[in-house]
Amino acid sequence: MLYLNPGLLVVDDEALVRTCLSDMLIRSGYTVRDASDGFSALAAIREEIPDLILSDLNMPGMSGFEFLSVVRRRFPSVRAIAMSSAYTGADPPQGVAADAFYQKGTHPTILLRILEDITRPGQPLLGRRPRISAPIWVPTNGHNASGEMYVTISCPECLRAFPQVFDHTAATTLETRCAWCCVPIQCAIVHSALAA
Ligand SMILES: [Zn+2]
Repeated sequence: MLYLNPGLLVVDDEALVRTCLSDMLIRSGYTVRDASDGFSALAAIREEIPDLILSDLNMPGMSGFEFLSVVRRRFPSVRAIAMSSAYTGADPPQGVAADAFYQKGTHPTILLRILEDITRPGQPLLGRRPRISAPIWVPTNGHNASGEMYVTISCPECLRAFPQVFDHTAATTLETRCAWCCVPIQCAIVHSALAA
């Protein structure tokens, strides 16, 4: 038995795949949203956390390998299905953070069965709100090759790191945007003696 309209996020870089899967899943009682790669999928999760994610593995930008590992670390209660036509079998390829695997191109009823299996075991699907943003504390790295002070910021959304130059004579907080997924980030700079 399915719970009422579980929210499902379909992530695939091919528009035709997104459309076909979404149509079929909506007819099967799911509330479906879609995204074309890992970064836009994270943006969709920021708006509303889905109950289930169905993600392709090979996508430009942020691949499904990286996206599913971000999801597992940040949203461990969201159940995830990896899909690909490059792998076979019922289990996710090694190193893929997913609960199940769907081989693209096989019959859609196989996918529906997988979805029912991982939603069935009596665990109610709980929607959760995205975390409230808080400043990240980052130590200074010292000076780069141009003599500017910089910090390395790990983005709390996509978990990628990037260097950020800042004016050390100004305040010790920094408003910036992630170099990868463009989410706004507020940092507090820790002036460590080691980096001076
Ligand atoms: Zn980011």
